[in-house]
Amino acid sequence: MTVQEMKKLVCEAIDKNADKIINIAESIFAEPELGYKEYKTAAKVKAVFDELGYTYKDEVALTGVIADVPGKDHKAKIAVMGELDAVVCPGHRCADPVTGAAHSCGHHAQIASLMGVAYGLKESGVMDMLDGDVALMAVPAEEGVELEWRNEQMQQGKISYLGGKQEFIKLGAFDDVDAMIMQHTVQGDKITAGGPGGMGFVAKIVQYIGKESHAAAPFNGINALDAAKIGLMACDAQRTTFKDEDGIRFHPIITKGGALVNVVPAFVQIETFVRGRSIPAIKDASFKIDRALKAGADAMGAECKIFNLPGYLFSVESPELKGLVEGNIVELVGEEKLGKSPSGFTTEANDVSNLIPTVHAMVGGSVGIGHSSNYEIEDKQLAYVTAAKMLAMTVVDLLANGAEKALEVKANFKAPLTKESYIQLLDELKA
Ligand SMILES: [Zn+2]
Ligand SMILES: [Zn+2]
Repeated sequence: MTVQEMKKLVCEAIDKNADKIINIAESIFAEPELGYKEYKTAAKVKAVFDELGYTYKDEVALTGVIADVPGKDHKAKIAVMGELDAVVCPGHRCADPVTGAAHSCGHHAQIASLMGVAYGLKESGVMDMLDGDVALMAVPAEEGVELEWRNEQMQQGKISYLGGKQEFIKLGAFDDVDAMIMQHTVQGDKITAGGPGGMGFVAKIVQYIGKESHAAAPFNGINALDAAKIGLMACDAQRTTFKDEDGIRFHPIITKGGALVNVVPAFVQIETFVRGRSIPAIKDASFKIDRALKAGADAMGAECKIFNLPGYLFSVESPELKGLVEGNIVELVGEEKLGKSPSGFTTEANDVSNLIPTVHAMVGGSVGIGHSSNYEIEDKQLAYVTAAKMLAMTVVDLLANGAEKALEVKANFKAPLTKESYIQLLDELKA
């Protein structure tokens, strides 16, 4: 059977299951969960894998699910990913009333497309004709949020990193994977195969520990809020030392600023990212920010604890893999709907792209502003069903004919990092 015929079979199987795929998307949209807590969402993924008879591992990085889909031969392995998590957006119509979680980043559409691939590969029977394997990966925690809770999980040894893909890398989920493809919903009606770039970051939790006293007798206490204010002012003074081309962004929030107005604040907590365009620039800025924050504590005689949580890297492009995805985009929606993006997202898939050929495509279909309460999926066919076809067609391209394309993509990719050097880099950023 030709590649074209196999792709046709896969797309027909996805179309046949379009209603199910859309229902899954809407069910997840209605029950959003935050990163590393996506138990209900993971259960929905497992229900589809069970329905299709796939074997899978669950509770990978707490909530992740990985189904192994064997081909007729095992010359290469392709990962298709979808992210399980939502963001916090309490004003959204579907926000969880307790956690405020909402799918206003559209990750539910990623899981829907992943389930579409699951249906397509199984019901078309193409795996019996392909010469490599597929790993369908539902991954937790792309959004770098709830730093305090995640830091607690790290201190307890339940996770090591902020993000689920970072954790998957550490746990070896990509050890035998040759390429990864996934997609993220964006506004408009175009599909883009992604690009290099994005911004990297380090997340920080900063704690100032002072001493309580009656606010009418502040000389008996140590004011942690004053220490924090001085620390933040010192950070602002650092801004002129950041080079324009490094694009450093420091945007702190105070999550705990004192407990009672007539008590001198003894505990203040700040969460922030330090973003930048290169690792040396992020390291330099992170060092200066830490120094400035500590100066606030020194000024007041308070204590300052800083926890650095390494964030995400810059995306690296595999032109061959991108070319295959673009060919399928043109086939599905036509040349005029093929988006050309000069640069990539700031997203965790970038980390994977430093290790293996990766495409983080951007598929239209949403309206409203990402991470805001007016975010909705307008074009369900495009965001869920067409997205699934694009991914499944690319799997066929990669694994047909002795998996020659997968092997070619892999051979031409010069990975900037190995798993070991990646873990080492994260550990350096933690320090
Ligand atoms: Zn997001
Ligand atoms: Zn997102």
